Amino acid sequence: MRYIRPLSMEDAVGLISGSAGTAALLAGGSDLLVRMKGGFIEPDLIVDIKSIEGLSEIRQTAQGFSIGAAVPCAVMGENAALQKEWPGVVEAARLIGSKQIQGRCTIVGNLCNASPAADSVPALVVAGARASIVGPDGRRTSPVETVPVGPGKTSLAKGEIVEAILLASRLPRSGDAYQRFIPRTEMDIAVVSAGVNLTLDEQGVIVAARLALGAAAPTVLLVEDAAQVLIGSKLDEATLERLAKVCSQACRPIDDKRGTIEFRRKVAGVLAKRVALIAYNRAGGR
Ligand SMILES: Cc1cc2nc3c(=O)[nH]c(=O)nc-3n(C[C@H](O)[C@H](O)[C@H](O)COP(=O)(O)OP(=O)(O)OC[C@H]3O[C@@H](n4cnc5c(N)ncnc54)[C@H](O)[C@@H]3O)c2cc1C
Repeated sequence: MRYIRPLSMEDAVGLISGSAGTAALLAGGSDLLVRMKGGFIEPDLIVDIKSIEGLSEIRQTAQGFSIGAAVPCAVMGENAALQKEWPGVVEAARLIGSKQIQGRCTIVGNLCNASPAADSVPALVVAGARASIVGPDGRRTSPVETVPVGPGKTSLAKGEIVEAILLASRLPRSGDAYQRFIPRTEMDIAVVSAGVNLTLDEQGVIVAARLALGAAAPTVLLVEDAAQVLIGSKLDEATLERLAKVCSQACRPIDDKRGTIEFRRKVAGVLAKRVALIAYNRAGGR
C-alpha cells in the first residue's frame, strides 16, 4: 500500500486517475480508516488531501463561502461569519461523532462516504450547496444532492476529487436548521433527520423553502411537497400539521433494529416541524 500526500490538486488528480489498483482519498479518515480496519477495503494507494494548498481554508467572498475539502468540522464551528449565515449547516457538521471526531472529519468526507444517515448532507442540500469538483477533464460544480447516488456510492468519475463546498450568500430574513433523532445524546447515527432552509418577506410570510430528510431513503430526500406547504405561510399550527403529514408520507425508510418504518415516518414529521420553527425564528419570523 502506498500513502502519498500531494501538495497540489493537479498532482492529487494525476495520482488518483493514473492508479492501476484501488485508490482512496483520505481527508479526516474517520470513515475510511474504520472501513480499512474492518477489512471492507484495502486500497493500493491512499492519497491524503490535507496538504493540498487552499483545501484547509474557509474563504468568504461576495458570492458566499467556499469550504475546502480538508476543513475539519470543528473549524467550521469556529468561523463566526459562517456560523452567523449558515447556522443549520454548522450545527449539522458539529453533530458528527464527538469533539475528537470533529477535529478530523470533514463535510466533504461525510458527503462522499454516501451514507443515507450522513448528518451534514440534508443541511447542505437545503442550503442549495454546490460541490466544486476537479478531475482529469477540468473543474465543474454540481448540486451536492447529485454526489451520493446510493448507500456508499457516488456519481464521481475516476480521478474526480471534491475540492470544496460552495454556499451562496444569504438573502435577508433567511434561516436554516438541522436536527436528528438518536437514542442517546452523541456518537450515534441518525435514525432519521431533517434539515430546512427558509426565506421570509417583510411580513414574515415564507417566500422560499427547502426541506430534506436524512436516513429516510437510500439518499437524502428533498421533499418538494414540504416546500409547497411552507411557502405562503407564517408557520401557523395548521401549516405545521400539514408539514408533518407530507414529510411522514414522503419517507421511504428501512425497517431495522434502530427504528421501524412506522417510527421513522412519525419522527420525520416531528423533526420537520421542529426544524421549521427553529429556522423561522432564525430568519426573524417570531
Ligand atoms: C466514532 C465515529 C462517530 C461518527 N459519528 C457520525 C455522526 O454522528 N454522523 C455522521 O454523519 N457521521 C459520523 N461518523 C462518520 C464520519 O465521521 C463522517 O462521515 C465524516 O464526516 C467523514 O469525514 P472524513 O473527512 O473523516 O472522511 P474520510 O474518512 O477521509 O473519507 C470518507 C470517504 O470520502 C472519500 N473522500 C474524502 N475526501 C474526498 C474528496 N475530497 N473528494 C472525493 N472523495 C473524498 C474517501 O475516499 C472516503 O471514501 C462517525 C465516525 C466515527 C468513527
